[in-house]
Amino acid sequence: MPARILDGTKIANDIRSEVAAEVNVMAAAGIRPGLAVVLVGHNPASEIYVRGKVKASAEVGIYSEQHTPPETATTAELLALIEDLNRRDDIDGILVQLPLPPHVDSKKVLMAVDPAKDVDGFHPVNVGFLSTQRPGLVPCTPAGVIEILKRSSVPIARKEAVVVGRSDIVGMPAAMLLLNADATVTVCHSKTHDLPSVCHRADILVAAIGRAGMITPDFVKSGATVIDVGMNKVTDPAEFQRLFAGNAKREETFRTKGSTLVGDVHPEVAEVAGAITPVPGGVGPLTIAMLMFNTVKAAKMRRSKGSGQ
Ligand code: NAP
Repeated sequence: MPARILDGTKIANDIRSEVAAEVNVMAAAGIRPGLAVVLVGHNPASEIYVRGKVKASAEVGIYSEQHTPPETATTAELLALIEDLNRRDDIDGILVQLPLPPHVDSKKVLMAVDPAKDVDGFHPVNVGFLSTQRPGLVPCTPAGVIEILKRSSVPIARKEAVVVGRSDIVGMPAAMLLLNADATVTVCHSKTHDLPSVCHRADILVAAIGRAGMITPDFVKSGATVIDVGMNKVTDPAEFQRLFAGNAKREETFRTKGSTLVGDVHPEVAEVAGAITPVPGGVGPLTIAMLMFNTVKAAKMRRSKGSGQ
């Protein structure tokens, strides 16, 4: 039986509506959460992501502003900008769109963001809060993974979860969140021995690798829930055939656009999994929804405790 499709777009819309309702309540108390997005230079993909974040903010009633220093901005100039945003009381969330230009010390810039305003959840203080089960700001994409599981009534406690990928942005925080929700968690990476066997143990398999369709049906236990975080653009016709041969809709897209978006999970996995997130329309929409959620959370935490702890 084909897998149940976990509809990320619907879940993201539900979260956005909940956030908008909270923003309304805050407005009645004279509070308007504010988000500052820092976009350095002219990376086309980053510009698209930032537009989406600014548009989503307006839709839920969050004040947002963009800062667009030139490609030539120095680390010192960006640190000064972050310091200014840290000081401003009308700004609750600061998001530095990555990647920064190569001459900029990205770690130093991210470290400069006040942890109480770190709506990306990348600051080591927030990483520490997550790993010690204290309230803090959690990275948006992994937080979205957990929302998909919970809102789709997929049990996590006592289940075997396998996360493929150990990045700071996705894999590690996803593993930590699953552990905090009482799953038994294994984290895999490029040096993992016999990856298919390890993945095959999973009741919940999270793929955050960045390799188109790498997780094939032989990696997946029958009935497992598969969360596909990967977003890969396929342009090679042979690769396209490996993934989508016989899929008329995708063939049409590929013919007209010359590319298609695919996750880290091969489409045939839907034949063995119990539930699966599609790409597009799975984890992707949750990232912006959770950014909105984090901005409101930061606004509330700052006002209730002053430090985000
Ligand atoms: P990343 O920083 O490149 O990390 C990839 C991870 O996958 C690394 O831990 C790497 O292992 C592991 N890996 C690579 N090849 C492997 C292999 N052959 N076998 C096992 N593990 C392997 O990527 P990321 O930022 O976590 O992103 C992962 C994917 O998620 C990408 O497709 C990205 O586009 C997507 N993404 C989506 C969203 C969204 O909103 N949906 C957000 C963020 C990222 P090592 O540590 O050993 O190198």
